[in-house]
Amino acid sequence: MTPYWRVLAIRYATAQLPAAHLDLDADVHDAIGTLDYFIWVVSNGDRHIVVDTGFEPEEGARRGRQLIRHPVESLRLLGIDPDAVSDVILTHLHYDHAGNLGTFTNARFHLQDAEMEYATGRCMCHPRMRRPFCADDVTRAVRLVYEGRLVFHDGDFAFAPGLGVHRVGGHSRGLQVVRAEARGRPVVIASDALHLGHYLADGGVFPMFADYGNVLEGYQRLRQLAGDSGLILPGHDPGVLTRFAPVRPEWPDVVEVI
Ligand SMILES: [Zn+2]
Ligand SMILES: [Zn+2]
Repeated sequence: MTPYWRVLAIRYATAQLPAAHLDLDADVHDAIGTLDYFIWVVSNGDRHIVVDTGFEPEEGARRGRQLIRHPVESLRLLGIDPDAVSDVILTHLHYDHAGNLGTFTNARFHLQDAEMEYATGRCMCHPRMRRPFCADDVTRAVRLVYEGRLVFHDGDFAFAPGLGVHRVGGHSRGLQVVRAEARGRPVVIASDALHLGHYLADGGVFPMFADYGNVLEGYQRLRQLAGDSGLILPGHDPGVLTRFAPVRPEWPDVVEVI
């Protein structure tokens, strides 16, 4: 066991959509240009914790997203058997973060109370609020509750030494981020608390959120969690793949964040 956590970012899909797609019926992702889609693995040698599970291929295709490699296939390439994964942290329940739940047959899934309440509550009566959710994924998450495999959290919790989870909210009501003590510096996996890195500097907000004010407050929270030496990892930024080195040259979509 290493005394620090390794953080891997695994790109599994991409979307290149012109701003002209922005209209009342377009997915708001369409106004952004290029978005990459990631899952993450936090590992200390002994233990692999999966952070988010990507979208179901059919759901991604339905929304015009280009699958690069199924996220579970990437895990297998890395020698991680999904049946052997003990813990999956779900940052939130949007379709691109909480698909493929049935693949991890022995895992416990960690989710905030507020996220389940939001995804199954009255806000979902409104089409624009439920758009980033997939009813099948949410239903599977509910089934996990009844199978005794969903672990609820209310706010921050210490997952393991040097590994914490922190509720930020904003983009989705119960969004949580992961902070890991990596080699020499903390890494904060922001997921959709920060879609693109430049939002931190220019105060931009991805135009899909449950609470605008909490998105902005979330940026402050990310800075606090990272501290002076820390690194904040945005959830959909194509720059992640160019900023960090691939774990193997033949896998350009799998990088170690350091
Ligand atoms: Zn999201
Ligand atoms: Zn997302």
